[in-house]
Amino acid sequence: MDKSKEMRKLNLEYSRLPKSKSWSLSNGFVPGEGPVDAKVMIIGQAPGRNEDIQKRPFIGSSGKFLDRLILLAGLDRKRIYICSVVQYFPPKNRVPTKDEINLCKRFLFRQVGIINPRLIILLGAVACKTVLGMEKVSKIRGSIVRRNGRTYFISMHPAAAVRIRSRMPLMEKDFRNLKSVIAERRLTS
Ligand code: URA
Repeated sequence: MDKSKEMRKLNLEYSRLPKSKSWSLSNGFVPGEGPVDAKVMIIGQAPGRNEDIQKRPFIGSSGKFLDRLILLAGLDRKRIYICSVVQYFPPKNRVPTKDEINLCKRFLFRQVGIINPRLIILLGAVACKTVLGMEKVSKIRGSIVRRNGRTYFISMHPAAAVRIRSRMPLMEKDFRNLKSVIAERRLTS
């Protein structure tokens, strides 16, 4: 099956999840966005209120800051596959629970398998913990981790920098540094 078909099938399955027992998230599915053959994939935590309304990832205030970081790294958002660990809005914008993450992460891992990106940017503790089992993002932010044949860039979540403005320059510095890795590996096109 080709990648687009596989992704459509996965999204259809994922969009039916609210029918499962004791569903605790919002009902509107916010699918990942971007080309299925993207070289770079970005994984966040979960959609916010604006994303839930527009059914698109990272289009609110943290999305605006992410757009800036993407540019600083020399990337083009249109060529990146962007999604979150949990692709449904957690009510009141709370952090998704362990159960919710467990329910959703198998879809995320399938998405990673379909895209098969050359670089995965993990935004914040939920993404780092779910994908790599690592939590202390503030200690490892800005670093490249290689695991099971994949390459990851560890970053704080842009929402944290929007909330605590002093973190913005740190994230900007990390993404400026990432630019050389992107160029070296020819990940821009
Ligand atoms: N934060 C996320 O982690 N994902 C989104 O889609 C929006 C904000």
